[in-house]
Order: sequence, then C-alpha cells, then structure tokens
Amino acid sequence: MNKRIILANWKMKLNFQKALRAVDEFVRIHKANQAMEVVLCPSFTALEKVAQRLKGTGVFLGAQDCFWEQEGAFTGEVSPTFLKELGCRFVIIGHSERRTHLGETDEMVHQKVKAVLAEGLVPVICVGETFEERQEGNKDFVVMSQVDKAVAGVDLQKDDQLIVAYEPVWVIGSGQAVEPAEARHTHQVIRQVLIDHFDAAAVQERARVIYGGSVDASNIKSFFAEENIDGALVGGASLDPHSFAELIQAAS
Ligand code: PEP
Repeated sequence: MNKRIILANWKMKLNFQKALRAVDEFVRIHKANQAMEVVLCPSFTALEKVAQRLKGTGVFLGAQDCFWEQEGAFTGEVSPTFLKELGCRFVIIGHSERRTHLGETDEMVHQKVKAVLAEGLVPVICVGETFEERQEGNKDFVVMSQVDKAVAGVDLQKDDQLIVAYEPVWVIGSGQAVEPAEARHTHQVIRQVLIDHFDAAAVQERARVIYGGSVDASNIKSFFAEENIDGALVGGASLDPHSFAELIQAAS
C-alpha cells in the first residue's frame, strides 16, 4: 500500500529568492510524518538550490514539466535525465495550464510519461475536464480518455510508480473545490482505466490517484476522509510555507 502524498505546485509564482525563503521556512516548521510523502515543485531555476535545502529533511523534490528526450538539439527543453541529476523524484506532466497555454497534447503527455518512467522518476499525470466539457455531460469520458492515452502501452516495472492527479480545470485556482464525493467517483473511474491497462495488483502497489483543485487547510480533511483519494496536488495554498504546513498538519 502506497503512502499518501501531498505535492506543492509553485507554478511560476515564486522566483528564485522567494522559493529559497519559502523552502527554508517550510523546512523549519514542517513536522515530518512517516505516513505521508511531501513534495515541493519549484520552478526549474530554483531546483538545484531547493534540492540542497531539502537534503536530509525527508521532503522530496519535483519538477513542473520535462521534455520526452534524454538529450539533444531541443532548445529550451529540460529532460528527465537532467532533472534526476538535480535530485528530482517526481515530475508533473500535462498540467491543464500547459495543455491550455502551450498546446500540450495527450500524445506529448504520453511521450513524457514514458521518458519519466524510463529515468526511474515518478510521473504525476494531470487530467481533468473543462467547465464546457462538464456542461456537455462528458466529464468521465474526457478524464478516461486522457488517462487512457497517457498510459497506453506503458509497462509498469516492479520499481515504477505512477500518479494520476484528477484536477477539474474549472476549479483550479477558483477557491471552490469539488465535493469530495464527486472526486471519489472520478477517482474510481480513473482507477478502473488504470486497472484495465495494468492489473489490479500493480495498480494497488504502484499507482496513486490524487485530487487537485483549490485544496487548502480547511478542506483537505474532507478529501482525505475518502479512502480512494491517495493525496493532493496543491497550488495556491502551497505558496505560503505556513499555510502549506498547516494543510499537511490537517491532513495528518
Ligand atoms: C494546480 O494548479 O495544480 C492547483 C491544484 O492549483 P490550486 O490548488 O490553486 O487550485
């Protein structure tokens, strides 16, 4: 059984200096809990220094994106190999902001998932419906299709781990999360797609399905009361080290 996990997605909101201040304060106040993994995902520019600050703390480092090749003539891109070299263990892939603003497709997400796993890192695959897709009654179909395309043909080896983050696009940054019961339903749908691709035992041991979208210290408990919610991806409420530490305390 995998531990629950909480990841902080700092997006492009904390510059180098702010990221270092945030990590120093977080490490000072964070109470490590053996039952939960905690991951900070700063911008690329802060990864190396944040990695140094996290040494020996038990808090993991994650990146917010990567490319799908290991090296080569790909100007501006960063490979999973380079991220691993810096100490990253997790890589967020296919965040809705990248899908929306940078044209990231399911096929690109798929290539990135394979590249991250090939490097022994953990992909955090973001999926979720837009408000329009929801209004059209296509929520489950959209989510199933995104998960299906992301993991098609992927072989989960013994030591591999994979995370799917269900993030309804329309609640990200809105301050209004979906109801935990709804997240529970969608997580079950996602888990079914994973079981259809891998097998139930592999999913149980190596895959986690987490929720993201306006999670904060006041609502995390209600999500974690749901058995099939294995963790949370947190944006806004992770930027301030005190609110993030408070959220983790509430979740514990
Ligand atoms: C996110 O962007 O992944 C996210 C979950 O943001 P927020 O917590 O601010 O909704």
